[in-house]
Amino acid sequence: MSRKGILFVLSGPSGVGKGTIREKLLADRSDIQVSISATTRPPRVDELNGVHYFFMDEASFILKQTRGEFLESAKVYSNMYGTPRNFVVANLINGKDVLLEIDIQGALQVKEKMPEGIFIFISPPTIEDLLLRLCKRGKDSLESIEERMASCREEMSYMPDYDYVVINDNLDEAVKRVEAIIIAERCKTRNLILE
Ligand code: ADP
Ligand code: 5GP
Repeated sequence: MSRKGILFVLSGPSGVGKGTIREKLLADRSDIQVSISATTRPPRVDELNGVHYFFMDEASFILKQTRGEFLESAKVYSNMYGTPRNFVVANLINGKDVLLEIDIQGALQVKEKMPEGIFIFISPPTIEDLLLRLCKRGKDSLESIEERMASCREEMSYMPDYDYVVINDNLDEAVKRVEAIIIAERCKTRNLILE
């Protein structure tokens, strides 16, 4: 029995642990294709082009945007981010599952275009925990942390637009919950191709 490819979208406020969950999830599995986003943000010291992101200048990004090469795109904290459309569509057509890890504006755009996707909202246990994580991560200035905390309050209000909510309290438990969602969705009759 074969199966349709499923699009999984992991989203939530900045600093909630989306990237950490994605990494842990993928460490043990190769049965899900991860989309690599395009961004105008400069690479961080440990980041490689084509591995972490496709890094590009604003002119190249806008050109791709106007050509319709992105499934979604959004300005996130003063940089542009976009999901390359062809990668996602080609994998889904081939029956492969795809994972996007994107911000909330982007997830809402994807939901408009691909409502059959599975939308997972990663929530912090408390707003205080989110602040602690952003500080602990050590990648953002104080101003940028304040900006992220201010956005978080509005972002949390989009939780009901998602199919699932996973509270990232204990990391291992949160990863298990996301895995459980993936496993359950793969068993749904609507995702099976019954011949
Ligand atoms: P995001 O990708 O959502 O912006 P990150 O994955 O970069 O967030 O995580 C932000 C910080 O929170 C990192 O320092 C990470 O190690 C930490 N973190 C992630 N999950 C947990 C958790 N369950 N408990 C405590 N700290 C966590
Ligand atoms: P960072 O610059 O810290 O890697 O990512 C900043 C934010 O941009 C995170 O919330 C991340 O999920 C989001 N992001 C990464 N790639 C994309 C993308 O392709 N589209 C959208 N909308 N957001 C993205």
